Amino acid sequence: MSARYLIRLDDITPHMDWPRFERLSSVFDEFGIQPLLGVIPDNRDPQLRQFPEFVGDFWEKVRSLQARGWEIAQHGFQHVYVTQDCGLMGVNGLSEFAGLPFETQLDKLMRGQSILREHGLSCETFMAPSHSFDRQTLRALRELGFTTVTDGFAPWPSIEHGLIFLPQWLANPRVLPLGVQTFCLHVNEMTEGQIRRVEQFVADHHREFLSFAEARSLATPRTLNRVAGRVIGSTLRGLKTVRRSLRRRRNSA
Ligand SMILES: [Zn+2]
Repeated sequence: MSARYLIRLDDITPHMDWPRFERLSSVFDEFGIQPLLGVIPDNRDPQLRQFPEFVGDFWEKVRSLQARGWEIAQHGFQHVYVTQDCGLMGVNGLSEFAGLPFETQLDKLMRGQSILREHGLSCETFMAPSHSFDRQTLRALRELGFTTVTDGFAPWPSIEHGLIFLPQWLANPRVLPLGVQTFCLHVNEMTEGQIRRVEQFVADHHREFLSFAEARSLATPRTLNRVAGRVIGSTLRGLKTVRRSLRRRRNSA
Protein backbone atom coordinates (compact mmCIF):
# COMPACT_ATOMS: atom_id res chain seq x y z
CA MET A 1 0.00 0.00 0.00
CA SER A 2 1.34 3.44 -0.90
CA ALA A 3 1.29 6.30 1.56
CA ARG A 4 -2.00 7.83 2.70
CA TYR A 5 -2.60 11.43 3.68
CA LEU A 6 -4.65 13.60 6.01
CA ILE A 7 -4.90 17.37 6.37
CA ARG A 8 -5.34 19.39 9.52
CA LEU A 9 -5.92 23.13 9.79
CA ASP A 10 -4.61 24.75 12.96
CA ASP A 11 -5.74 27.89 14.77
CA ILE A 12 -9.39 27.97 13.75
CA THR A 13 -10.90 30.93 15.63
CA PRO A 14 -13.23 33.83 14.79
CA HIS A 15 -10.05 35.86 14.13
CA MET A 16 -8.19 34.47 11.14
CA ASP A 17 -7.46 34.87 7.45
CA TRP A 18 -10.94 33.88 6.22
CA PRO A 19 -10.41 34.55 2.48
CA ARG A 20 -7.51 32.06 2.46
CA PHE A 21 -9.54 29.61 4.53
CA GLU A 22 -12.40 29.78 2.00
CA ARG A 23 -9.98 29.25 -0.86
CA LEU A 24 -8.61 26.08 0.71
CA SER A 25 -12.14 24.93 1.65
CA SER A 26 -13.24 25.09 -1.95
CA VAL A 27 -10.41 22.84 -3.13
CA PHE A 28 -11.12 20.35 -0.31
CA ASP A 29 -14.80 20.31 -1.27
CA GLU A 30 -14.01 19.91 -4.95
CA PHE A 31 -11.95 16.78 -4.27
CA GLY A 32 -14.02 15.37 -1.39
CA ILE A 33 -11.39 15.87 1.33
CA GLN A 34 -12.58 16.27 4.91
CA PRO A 35 -9.84 17.93 6.94
CA LEU A 36 -9.48 18.18 10.69
CA LEU A 37 -10.18 21.65 12.08
CA GLY A 38 -8.27 22.61 15.22
CA VAL A 39 -10.74 24.92 16.94
CA ILE A 40 -9.49 27.05 19.86
CA PRO A 41 -12.35 27.09 22.40
CA ASP A 42 -11.56 30.51 23.95
CA ASN A 43 -8.89 32.23 21.86
CA ARG A 44 -6.83 34.68 23.95
CA ASP A 45 -3.69 34.60 21.82
CA PRO A 46 -2.87 38.28 21.06
CA GLN A 47 -1.07 37.36 17.82
CA LEU A 48 -4.03 35.43 16.47
CA ARG A 49 -6.48 38.11 17.58
CA GLN A 50 -4.81 40.58 15.20
CA PHE A 51 -6.58 38.93 12.28
CA PRO A 52 -9.95 40.31 11.21
CA GLU A 53 -12.95 38.76 12.92
CA PHE A 54 -15.40 36.46 11.11
CA VAL A 55 -18.49 38.30 9.91
CA GLY A 56 -21.49 36.31 11.12
CA ASP A 57 -21.85 33.45 13.58
CA PHE A 58 -18.49 31.71 13.88
CA TRP A 59 -19.90 28.72 15.78
CA GLU A 60 -22.65 28.23 13.21
CA LYS A 61 -19.96 28.22 10.52
CA VAL A 62 -17.97 25.52 12.35
CA ARG A 63 -21.13 23.45 12.94
CA SER A 64 -21.89 23.61 9.22
CA LEU A 65 -18.40 22.29 8.43
CA GLN A 66 -18.86 19.51 10.98
CA ALA A 67 -22.15 18.64 9.30
CA ARG A 68 -20.25 18.32 6.00
CA GLY A 69 -18.10 15.61 7.59
CA TRP A 70 -15.13 17.77 8.50
CA GLU A 71 -13.73 16.67 11.82
CA ILE A 72 -13.32 19.00 14.79
CA ALA A 73 -10.35 18.84 17.16
CA GLN A 74 -9.97 20.76 20.39
CA HIS A 75 -6.91 22.96 19.85
CA GLY A 76 -5.95 23.62 23.47
CA PHE A 77 -8.04 25.98 25.56
CA GLN A 78 -6.95 29.63 25.15
CA HIS A 79 -3.83 29.20 22.99
CA VAL A 80 -1.71 31.09 25.51
CA TYR A 81 1.72 29.66 26.29
CA VAL A 82 2.51 29.50 29.97
CA THR A 83 5.50 27.13 30.12
CA GLN A 84 8.64 26.56 28.07
CA ASP A 85 8.22 22.81 28.17
CA CYS A 86 8.54 20.99 24.85
CA GLY A 87 6.69 17.94 26.20
CA LEU A 88 6.85 14.42 24.78
CA MET A 89 7.24 15.50 21.14
CA GLY A 90 10.28 17.59 22.05
CA VAL A 91 9.88 20.08 19.20
CA ASN A 92 8.84 23.50 20.49
CA GLY A 93 9.77 24.90 23.90
CA LEU A 94 6.40 26.55 24.43
CA SER A 95 3.28 25.06 25.93
CA GLU A 96 -0.19 25.73 27.18
CA PHE A 97 -0.12 22.41 29.07
CA ALA A 98 3.18 20.53 29.39
CA GLY A 99 4.86 20.98 32.75
CA LEU A 100 1.69 22.02 34.57
CA PRO A 101 0.17 19.87 37.35
CA PHE A 102 -2.42 17.30 36.33
CA GLU A 103 -5.33 19.11 38.02
CA THR A 104 -4.55 22.37 36.22
CA GLN A 105 -4.32 20.64 32.87
CA LEU A 106 -7.54 18.72 33.47
CA ASP A 107 -9.33 21.94 34.41
CA LYS A 108 -8.17 23.80 31.27
CA LEU A 109 -9.04 20.90 28.99
CA MET A 110 -12.43 20.45 30.63
CA ARG A 111 -13.28 24.14 30.28
CA GLY A 112 -12.32 24.03 26.61
CA GLN A 113 -14.36 20.89 26.06
CA SER A 114 -17.47 22.44 27.68
CA ILE A 115 -17.23 25.53 25.45
CA LEU A 116 -17.14 23.36 22.33
CA ARG A 117 -20.01 21.23 23.61
CA GLU A 118 -22.11 24.30 24.45
CA HIS A 119 -21.74 25.30 20.82
CA GLY A 120 -22.90 21.90 19.57
CA LEU A 121 -19.48 20.59 18.57
CA SER A 122 -18.39 17.10 19.41
CA CYS A 123 -14.76 16.12 19.23
CA GLU A 124 -12.65 13.18 20.20
CA THR A 125 -9.34 14.52 18.90
CA PHE A 126 -6.87 16.77 20.69
CA MET A 127 -4.52 19.12 18.85
CA ALA A 128 -1.89 20.52 21.21
CA PRO A 129 -0.87 24.15 20.67
CA SER A 130 2.79 24.15 19.64
CA HIS A 131 2.69 20.29 19.55
CA SER A 132 3.46 20.31 23.26
CA PHE A 133 1.85 17.92 25.74
CA ASP A 134 3.14 15.61 28.45
CA ARG A 135 1.99 12.45 30.24
CA GLN A 136 -0.33 14.45 32.49
CA THR A 137 -2.03 15.97 29.43
CA LEU A 138 -2.60 12.49 28.04
CA ARG A 139 -4.00 11.29 31.37
CA ALA A 140 -6.43 14.24 31.43
CA LEU A 141 -7.45 13.59 27.81
CA ARG A 142 -8.22 9.95 28.61
CA GLU A 143 -10.25 11.02 31.61
CA LEU A 144 -12.28 13.42 29.45
CA GLY A 145 -13.05 10.76 26.84
CA PHE A 146 -10.71 11.86 24.04
CA THR A 147 -9.53 9.00 21.82
CA THR A 148 -7.05 10.63 19.47
CA VAL A 149 -4.05 12.96 19.36
CA THR A 150 -3.05 14.55 16.06
CA ASP A 151 0.71 14.29 16.59
CA GLY A 152 3.32 11.60 16.38
CA PHE A 153 6.44 10.54 14.51
CA ALA A 154 5.53 6.89 13.90
CA PRO A 155 5.05 6.00 10.21
CA TRP A 156 1.56 4.53 10.81
CA PRO A 157 -1.17 5.44 13.30
CA SER A 158 -0.23 4.00 16.67
CA ILE A 159 -1.78 3.29 20.05
CA GLU A 160 0.27 4.60 22.95
CA HIS A 161 -0.65 5.71 26.48
CA GLY A 162 -4.17 4.40 25.77
CA LEU A 163 -4.72 6.89 22.92
CA ILE A 164 -4.51 6.84 19.13
CA PHE A 165 -1.70 8.97 17.69
CA LEU A 166 -2.09 10.00 14.06
CA PRO A 167 1.32 10.70 12.50
CA GLN A 168 2.06 14.38 11.97
CA TRP A 169 5.45 15.89 11.23
CA LEU A 170 5.18 17.58 7.84
CA ALA A 171 3.75 21.00 7.05
CA ASN A 172 4.15 21.08 3.28
CA PRO A 173 2.42 18.28 1.36
CA ARG A 174 4.78 15.89 -0.34
CA VAL A 175 4.66 12.34 -1.67
CA LEU A 176 5.97 9.76 0.79
CA PRO A 177 6.93 6.15 0.08
CA LEU A 178 4.79 4.65 2.86
CA GLY A 179 2.80 5.25 6.02
CA VAL A 180 0.12 7.76 6.94
CA GLN A 181 0.98 11.44 7.21
CA THR A 182 -1.00 14.50 8.32
CA PHE A 183 -0.04 17.77 6.69
CA CYS A 184 -0.38 20.60 9.18
CA LEU A 185 -1.54 23.87 7.61
CA HIS A 186 -1.52 27.24 9.34
CA VAL A 187 -3.86 29.23 7.11
CA ASN A 188 -2.80 32.60 8.57
CA GLU A 189 0.86 32.07 7.74
CA MET A 190 0.61 30.44 4.31
CA THR A 191 2.18 32.14 1.30
CA GLU A 192 0.58 32.15 -2.14
CA GLY A 193 3.12 29.53 -3.23
CA GLN A 194 2.24 27.22 -0.34
CA ILE A 195 -1.48 27.52 -1.06
CA ARG A 196 -0.88 26.64 -4.73
CA ARG A 197 1.21 23.67 -3.66
CA VAL A 198 -1.64 22.36 -1.49
CA GLU A 199 -4.15 22.88 -4.33
CA GLN A 200 -1.91 20.98 -6.74
CA PHE A 201 -1.19 18.17 -4.28
CA VAL A 202 -4.88 17.69 -3.50
CA ALA A 203 -5.76 17.67 -7.20
CA ASP A 204 -3.05 15.09 -7.97
CA HIS A 205 -3.41 12.85 -4.92
CA HIS A 206 -7.00 13.17 -3.63
CA ARG A 207 -7.55 9.42 -4.02
CA GLU A 208 -4.77 8.77 -1.51
CA PHE A 209 -6.44 10.75 1.28
CA LEU A 210 -8.13 9.07 4.25
CA SER A 211 -10.93 10.25 6.48
CA PHE A 212 -9.94 10.58 10.14
CA ALA A 213 -12.18 7.62 11.01
CA GLU A 214 -10.32 5.49 8.46
CA ALA A 215 -6.95 6.63 9.81
CA ARG A 216 -8.04 5.74 13.37
CA SER A 217 -9.06 2.25 12.28
CA LEU A 218 -5.47 1.63 11.11
CA ALA A 219 -3.98 2.29 14.55
CA THR A 220 -2.10 -0.55 16.23
CA PRO A 221 0.15 -0.90 19.28
CA ARG A 222 2.87 -2.52 17.09
CA THR A 223 6.33 -2.15 18.58
CA LEU A 224 8.13 -1.80 15.24
CA ASN A 225 5.98 1.21 14.32
CA ARG A 226 6.67 2.81 17.70
CA VAL A 227 10.41 2.18 17.45
CA ALA A 228 10.46 3.63 13.92
CA GLY A 229 8.62 6.65 15.33
CA ARG A 230 11.30 7.16 17.93
CA VAL A 231 14.03 7.05 15.26
CA ILE A 232 12.14 9.51 13.01
CA GLY A 233 11.49 11.81 15.98
CA SER A 234 15.09 11.96 17.10
CA THR A 235 16.31 12.42 13.50
CA LEU A 236 13.92 15.33 12.92
CA ARG A 237 14.82 16.94 16.25
CA GLY A 238 18.52 16.52 15.33
CA LEU A 239 17.97 18.17 11.92
CA LYS A 240 16.16 21.03 13.63
CA THR A 241 19.07 21.61 16.01
CA VAL A 242 21.58 21.57 13.13
CA ARG A 243 19.46 24.03 11.15
CA ARG A 244 19.14 26.31 14.18
CA SER A 245 22.89 26.37 14.83
CA LEU A 246 23.65 26.98 11.13
CA ARG A 247 21.25 29.93 11.20
CA ARG A 248 22.92 31.26 14.35
CA ARG A 249 26.36 30.92 12.75
CA ARG A 250 25.15 32.71 9.58
CA ASN A 251 23.63 35.54 11.62
CA SER A 252 26.76 36.03 13.68
CA ALA A 253 29.01 35.92 10.57
ZN1 LIG B 1 -2.04 26.76 17.24
